Amino acid sequence: MRTLRLAVPNKGRLEQPTATLLRDAGLVFEKTERALSVLVHNVDLELLFVRADDIPEMIADGVAEMGITGQDLLAEHGNGLPVLAELGYGHCRLVAAVPRTADAEKAEDFAGFRVATSHPRVTADFFASRGVEVTIVPLKGSVEVAPKLDVADAVVDLVSTGSTLMVNGLQPVGTILESQAVLAANPTAVGDRSAEVEQVVTALSAVVAGRGKRYLLLNAPADVVDKMAEIIPGMESPTVVPLAEAGWVAVHSVVEADDVWNVLPELKALGGRDILVLRIQQLIA
Ligand code: AMP
Repeated sequence: MRTLRLAVPNKGRLEQPTATLLRDAGLVFEKTERALSVLVHNVDLELLFVRADDIPEMIADGVAEMGITGQDLLAEHGNGLPVLAELGYGHCRLVAAVPRTADAEKAEDFAGFRVATSHPRVTADFFASRGVEVTIVPLKGSVEVAPKLDVADAVVDLVSTGSTLMVNGLQPVGTILESQAVLAANPTAVGDRSAEVEQVVTALSAVVAGRGKRYLLLNAPADVVDKMAEIIPGMESPTVVPLAEAGWVAVHSVVEADDVWNVLPELKALGGRDILVLRIQQLIA
């Protein structure tokens, strides 16, 4: 039986964060500039380095059983490949936008428009499902300049902050889909090897889960533990370990990374000391 293949982006926005995710999950591999594929040293897995927008096709064809790419690209491919895990990076939105001077506030106002996009299928489906007739102008890149060049009246383009739209005099009208990097697979190609795929899902999901949390350790007077437990309830409840010094304990807990900022002063105010905040490599709840 051949080694399972995971297709990953070889350039662009998703390349670096994907390589980091795989390494954080414990996979050891070397990627040279021109390598098309490498075998992972410590796990029976082959990585195929291809363009992010070719990955849905690679998975659909069974060239790779699994792949990491943008949700928007999977939707555009349109094969309904199952998403096994959301990976928490590459966040963006596919938005419909018009020049600031245009009079369009909703999808219906786009009737008769030429709409430039690098997501022609998703865009066509979106307007068709609302009964709005538009002419799709498929472009590979630089979608946002199409209205300026009078190639289109509107665009459907990926944005994260929206600043590129703004710089080009465009204003968003609505969001067609939200996207992030995902792990997708081809169930037919995977066949009876779902246990191997599940290992990949578990390892990657554990990294993603760990990134959203922090491990907190602190020393505190034993009599404030109940109050602290209300602030930092942890996964089940905080671990409390007695210190050699009577009346003192060490409290360990897992907190949402986003809550650390607010929680630290509260713990300090309760008498918490020697507070450590640590990153979590992987977390399986
Ligand atoms: P690439 O064109 O190879 O840089 O990769 C583009 C993919 O990165 C898209 O299909 C999205 O899934 C993702 N992405 C995340 N943020 C953005 C953004 N602001 N603009 C375009 N693509 C983005």
